Amino acid sequence: MKTLDQFDLTGRSGLVTGAASGLGLAYAEVLAEAGAKVTLTDIDAEGAARECARLVDQGYEARWDSCDVSKLDEVARAFDHHVAAYGGCDVAFANAGLDVGNGFWTPEGTRNPEGQIDVYDPDRWYKSIGINLNGVFHTVREAARVMKANKHRPNGRRGGSIVITSSNAAEVNEAIVGVPYMAAKAGVKHFMRHAAYELAAYGIRVNAIAPGPFVTNIGDGWVKKNPAAKAAWDQLVPVGRMAETYQVKPLALLLASDAGSYMTGAHVMIDGGMQLGPVKPL
Ligand code: NAD
Repeated sequence: MKTLDQFDLTGRSGLVTGAASGLGLAYAEVLAEAGAKVTLTDIDAEGAARECARLVDQGYEARWDSCDVSKLDEVARAFDHHVAAYGGCDVAFANAGLDVGNGFWTPEGTRNPEGQIDVYDPDRWYKSIGINLNGVFHTVREAARVMKANKHRPNGRRGGSIVITSSNAAEVNEAIVGVPYMAAKAGVKHFMRHAAYELAAYGIRVNAIAPGPFVTNIGDGWVKKNPAAKAAWDQLVPVGRMAETYQVKPLALLLASDAGSYMTGAHVMIDGGMQLGPVKPL
């Protein structure tokens, strides 16, 4: 088989959570570009419908569903709808996530009084864990359920690929994001490693993409609204700039497709070198 053929997803399908924006939208786009049928899910149903319509207009096969990943029944329903529409599920991106704010540092580099542990708002903690960690558990749980059934499909294809969006904050103390976000992403990393171990016997690979700073709508899109803050961030990154979402697509396709057939349990950093330390102290 030619190397580039291993990236082809013709005849396969994938579901993405948090697909109305940012990295999730990039994952949905690259799945479609590689030939897969795609379900875009998001708590923002309007956004998922809008981006789905855009992909369909471009000639891709796509559908959308409303899904809050913090609710197991909604995630299960989204996978059931996907399987009913496309006859199975080969790829799942457990991507939806958010930063609830109140990092130790403000984006301006001053100490945030509300970001200190002794006064940290517990409701923010519970919300972050509910989406960033529980949401990943819900998505991997339901992806495993439907992918274990793949061996019964007419094409006989076994298993599948699950890709989780982690963060460089799983590895380093990125004190500008809220502390529950770091705890959730570190939990995601280790959960991913166990899921990969357990599901390997079923031909299901599980990997994580650990992005550094990408320009998306995370944090209410503060980096898009505030060019000065973005310029300051660009200077912190060893390669000299924040990333644009198209830059995650080749890695996402590698992990989703047969090109990554020997990869499982990997936590792949795509962070412009932030794991090595910011150029200047945050
Ligand atoms: P984004 O805000 O552009 O996109 C996130 C999407 O998730 C939005 O469409 C939002 O509506 C959706 N969402 C939020 N809560 C949800 C819920 N409960 N259920 C379903 N959907 C929900 O942000 P992004 O940067 O693309 O974030 C995607 C993932 O990437 C997240 O897991 C985030 O933690 C991770 N990440 C982002 C960066 C970065 O710098 N942008 C860095 C590391 C990790």
